[in-house]
Amino acid sequence: MSRKLRVAVVGAGPAGVYAADILTKNEDVDATVDLIDRDPTPFGLIRYGVAPDHPRIKEIVKALKRVMANPDIRFFGNVAFGDDIKLEDLRQFYDAVVFATGARRDRELDIPGIDLDGSYGAADFVYWYDGHPDVARDWDFQPHAKEVAVLGVGNVGLDVSRILAKTAEELLVTEIPENVYEGLKKNATTDVHVFARRGPAQVKFTPMELRELSHSPNIDVIVHPEGFEFDEGSMEALKAAKSQKLVVDVLTKYLATEPSGAPHRIHIHFCQSPVEVLGEDGRVVGLRTEITELDGTGNVRGTGEFKDWPIQAVYRAIGYYSDVLAGLPFDAAAGVVPNDGGHAIDLDGSPIPGVYVTGWIKRGPVGLIGHTKSDAAQTIGMLVDDIDALEAPEHAEPEAFDRYLDSRGLEYTTWEGWEKLDAHELGLGDAHETERERVKVVPREDMVRIARA
Ligand code: NAP
Repeated sequence: MSRKLRVAVVGAGPAGVYAADILTKNEDVDATVDLIDRDPTPFGLIRYGVAPDHPRIKEIVKALKRVMANPDIRFFGNVAFGDDIKLEDLRQFYDAVVFATGARRDRELDIPGIDLDGSYGAADFVYWYDGHPDVARDWDFQPHAKEVAVLGVGNVGLDVSRILAKTAEELLVTEIPENVYEGLKKNATTDVHVFARRGPAQVKFTPMELRELSHSPNIDVIVHPEGFEFDEGSMEALKAAKSQKLVVDVLTKYLATEPSGAPHRIHIHFCQSPVEVLGEDGRVVGLRTEITELDGTGNVRGTGEFKDWPIQAVYRAIGYYSDVLAGLPFDAAAGVVPNDGGHAIDLDGSPIPGVYVTGWIKRGPVGLIGHTKSDAAQTIGMLVDDIDALEAPEHAEPEAFDRYLDSRGLEYTTWEGWEKLDAHELGLGDAHETERERVKVVPREDMVRIARA
């Protein structure tokens, strides 16, 4: 090729940045990448998914920043695929498009009462406490909601439980925006009840995150003995995966520990499958679970026995779900764009020329941030193998895309813009009386104004 390969990566979270990095470092290809994101900021889930009291995970940003220093990679934020631009638009400017749009919604839970006031999706709560611009500034904490249910025993369930059980003061040292700090002061939760529909060997927590719950002086972790059981399938799972064994060791320690009398408690209940959210006058007043039993394989069956729990709010943390991408097929059961290891495929199974996927939109919403690297390597490998078959875009010069966005009146942000906003947020942190590292700016218009100043 006499010019550089032009690739658009839609989604500037870790999956997208890793894809851009791997492609621009490939010795067989001379490529430039434009990362396009609906948020005015890069880093997707690191900024708007990782909990604010997990600064260690947020450190991944440092490595992503080094990637973005590459002049062959540009960032266009505040440009929403599907609303502001379509696939046909991108095809005018790029040889190939890689979608790395992740999964940002809550998976639905189809049980009666799930739509009552006081029943929330974990992803919405995470967006709120992480200061995403598109969610309401206030969270609906009710003064009477002292006992709260969290459904699902993955790391998102742990994040939500921990944030609900910590005090606003404990979280003030983090990057939470002012509205979140003010909101958390209204959180009356004293007891978080986390429900696993299976046994302890089937939880999806990771050991470090589970251990961390007890680091807060305000929280006692109470593992309840009912359902703390292991069948043959459980024993096999523990033998097969060391990390699962470590998780069960931590749970066993919690089970044997007397509560210290801390003001807040996180209770973990096993073999309780949620079947109904109970309501009165349109608001949550309880949760009904069916007691389950392990069936020998690590799965469970219902016992036909039910239990009602007096709780005043429910957070479902049963997994994320991806948005449908305009103009592309969608596998609704798996929540992914159908693909053949990274190359998007049509409903008839044929590859869609020049369209690739990576990250959670490719393989579903599981796995840690680091896992998206190997994923991106596979997808980019496929793209590179296809180079000779890619159709050249009408406008291959990089400036053509900027001109197009300008002609559409789109107020996009750039990497330089992000650096301005980054410096602004760090400055707000410095200026704060408690000298916080960063205070996030929340309103989209403020973010865009600062970035484009
Ligand atoms: P997850 O790990 O898949 O956990 C989902 C949980 O929901 C499972 O316990 C699952 O139970 C349960 N569940 C699903 N459907 C249910 C239903 N109908 N009723 C009751 N329970 C149900 O998902 P996640 O917590 O959203 O996490 C997504 C990924 O992000 C994971 O890989 C996670 O490790 C990662 N993450 C990591 C961190 C961190 O490192 N700190 C933080 C957040 C997220 P079953 O197993 O029985 O299906």
